Amino acid sequence: MIEPNAWTPPSQPFVFPSMLPIQVQPEPETAAKDQIQPGKGRGLSSNGRHVIQSESVVQLRISDVEKALYDRAAKLGIEYVPHHQVLVGEQDENGMHSVTLEKVKFVDGQLQSTGELHSTLTPDLVVVADGAGSPTRKSLGIEFVEESDSKVYLGGQINKPLGADGGYSKMATYEKGELRHYMATGHKKYPQTWVSVEADSSVQQLTPEQRTAYLADRASAVMGQKIRPEDISWGAGQVTTVQNRRAETTVHGTNLLLIGDAARTGSVWQSGGLNLAMTTDIHNVVRVVENINLQDHSREHALTEYNLRAQTATRAWHEAGRLELNGLEPHHSHATVTCRVPEGIIANGPS
Ligand SMILES: Cc1cc2nc3c(=O)[nH]c(=O)nc-3n(C[C@H](O)[C@H](O)[C@H](O)COP(=O)(O)OP(=O)(O)OC[C@H]3O[C@@H](n4cnc5c(N)ncnc54)[C@H](O)[C@@H]3O)c2cc1C
Repeated sequence: MIEPNAWTPPSQPFVFPSMLPIQVQPEPETAAKDQIQPGKGRGLSSNGRHVIQSESVVQLRISDVEKALYDRAAKLGIEYVPHHQVLVGEQDENGMHSVTLEKVKFVDGQLQSTGELHSTLTPDLVVVADGAGSPTRKSLGIEFVEESDSKVYLGGQINKPLGADGGYSKMATYEKGELRHYMATGHKKYPQTWVSVEADSSVQQLTPEQRTAYLADRASAVMGQKIRPEDISWGAGQVTTVQNRRAETTVHGTNLLLIGDAARTGSVWQSGGLNLAMTTDIHNVVRVVENINLQDHSREHALTEYNLRAQTATRAWHEAGRLELNGLEPHHSHATVTCRVPEGIIANGPS
């Protein structure tokens, strides 16, 4: 752990105990502004350093997205049924799944069934968005295929801003001979920063307090300012496992499809989870409706196309996150990355 009083902003090379020396590059002011091409992603600069280029997506908190969706649904007159879970029933003779609502309650933070069932119906389309552990996917016997090794991350909300305009910073280091990536995402609207750091599985054996101290050290490095354990709020002490996984199929019967984390999970670095759900998946669901209603496609055809599109999007995300999840190629191995995204270029971040 870095001595609290000995810490200085990483404008000079510095060493974490148990790490090889790393050098954090000063913010590539002019170079970054000149080289950044919105939408181009990332690449190697002329000196071979791994330079983060633009990530031209909007920076939003997931909690703000949820609120906006909730408000919009209310305006559209969509009925929201809290404290219920959806149970998907067998297919009828046309391949259509029914759904039943069951009242649930929380006991000691755990969701419990009450056995109180309501309103069984057979919808035109069942859009399953019940997360990575998707009970619906499991109940349908759809495998969640592992497409990479899993990685362990510590992440937390730091109650300090990264920069006046939000900001975005990444770096890579060697710890115990292994490549580790750290990422900090600031926010224009909130004076807080989300930090994710790649760790090894041994952090699972640490106490929550030790994990928080570990995260504070790495947050200090990637944010370029001293971060103390008490600066970390949400996420402190928690461990997240990240892995490329995908549902072997994202459709079932003639009226059911999976979106979001129920369909796939992947790298937190490529911002794929919510982004993919809110953009690609929603677009593809709209196509299903249009294909059936306007193009006169059969349900089977429309859902087959949905699955192809969903799987293609998943492959692209997994490929984009491959370097981070599997480690950079050897010729990148000494790269150290830090980048503040200039004004006008903003990155997304979690809640
Ligand atoms: C640390 C971390 C950082 C992340 N950062 C980013 C990021 O920067 N950008 C990004 O795009 N994504 C990010 N993600 C991913 C993002 O959070 C997820 O991709 C997104 O929340 C998935 O939404 P979802 O609706 O598919 O699933 P979830 O958010 O998991 O929601 C599923 C919901 O379904 C409910 N549910 C479960 N079973 C049932 C049932 N039977 N009936 C009714 N409801 C049910 C659950 O209670 C839950 O509320 C991050 C994730 C983590 C963990």
